[in-house]
Amino acid sequence: MGKSKRKFLLLPGDGIGPEVVREAKKIIEWFNKHKSLDFDVDQELIGGASIDKNKIPITDEVFYKSLECDAVVVGACGGPKWDNLEFSKKPERALLKLRKELKLFANLRPAICFKQLVDSSTLKPEVVTGLDIMIVRELTGGIYFGEPRGIEPIKNNERKGINTHTYTTTEIQRIAKTAFELAKKRKNKVTSCEKSNVMEAGVLWREEVQALKDKDFKDIELQHMLADNCAMQLLRNPKQFDVILADNLFGDMLSDEAAMLTGSLGLLPSASLGSRDKNGKMRSLYEPVHGSAPDIAGKNIANPIATILSLSMAFRYSLDLDKEADSLDQAVQLVLDEGLRTKDIISKGKKEVTTSQMGDAIISKLK
Ligand code: NAD
Repeated sequence: MGKSKRKFLLLPGDGIGPEVVREAKKIIEWFNKHKSLDFDVDQELIGGASIDKNKIPITDEVFYKSLECDAVVVGACGGPKWDNLEFSKKPERALLKLRKELKLFANLRPAICFKQLVDSSTLKPEVVTGLDIMIVRELTGGIYFGEPRGIEPIKNNERKGINTHTYTTTEIQRIAKTAFELAKKRKNKVTSCEKSNVMEAGVLWREEVQALKDKDFKDIELQHMLADNCAMQLLRNPKQFDVILADNLFGDMLSDEAAMLTGSLGLLPSASLGSRDKNGKMRSLYEPVHGSAPDIAGKNIANPIATILSLSMAFRYSLDLDKEADSLDQAVQLVLDEGLRTKDIISKGKKEVTTSQMGDAIISKLK
């Protein structure tokens, strides 16, 4: 306790973003009041809300604030109101800019199946009960960013679409290091996925991950798996995995697949992390996996748990507050144990609560 004053920047964004981030803010305020954590909390517009006021998805002022704070917590960006804007002006550009400029190369997505919600999964209870895996996805390289790219005319009135998949030793090893270090705090096992059977970049990926393990992480159990096999194994026997490491493209697919093992989008947090600077400070952004859910926005029925668990990840990974993160995770469990549910996860015999009631109930369980 008695930590020096650290800064959270809250960027609620659009749709249900403001509703779910409001609950996270209440929790930060609770920790400030009851645990003397003395967090500074700043809040700004991004996405469509920023377009409406400033004509751009994120202003320079907000961007610089995000560079200076200890952790950024985002709600969601986008919605039908801005759907017709050209790609470079859309609300979602704010997030792409933040991820790129903060150099957030590691995306962490836990897939945990809460025992209380095991029936929400489409898989059999025995397959998912107790599931706790972490997908580590490379976020700034690979085919989504590689050059050359584009669509160009070719002969006979046809066109060709081009994207380029590239990875360097440095890019592979820094994300592998993140996965190995996380595994050390978990069950010590990493499954690295690629397509080394058909892609040279996959061969390099496998070799560099293995080389780093042999050099610096001898105690980690490392398994290489073809990405398509991993997709299948995730459905067949997901509990065989601890940390799954994948590039940008395969990580995108595998993390969405893993997400669905757990049932509801409203429960899934994520963290995007950069490197540590020489003072040990790490750039980071925490956000729920879901979007702005325009269909339920403004009704106080959205599930705030994904955002609250994202805040817990911020405590754990950016602020070294493991005890506080544990206490928040446990509070969520206790509320689910009591049978409180937002509309998206309601089932027979459970009590339906609003977004703000769910936030209040979680706060009431904090110690
Ligand atoms: P979505 O995640 O917003 O919604 C998908 C479905 O899940 C909807 O039925 C929604 O009501 C439900 N849902 C999502 N979060 C929920 C929650 N917390 N509680 C209860 N139900 C929840 O995805 P979409 O409909 O494809 O996209 C809507 C908008 O969000 C689009 O403009 C899209 O571009 C944007 N989006 C933003 C992000 C982001 O900001 N990171 C991510 C995905 C989509």
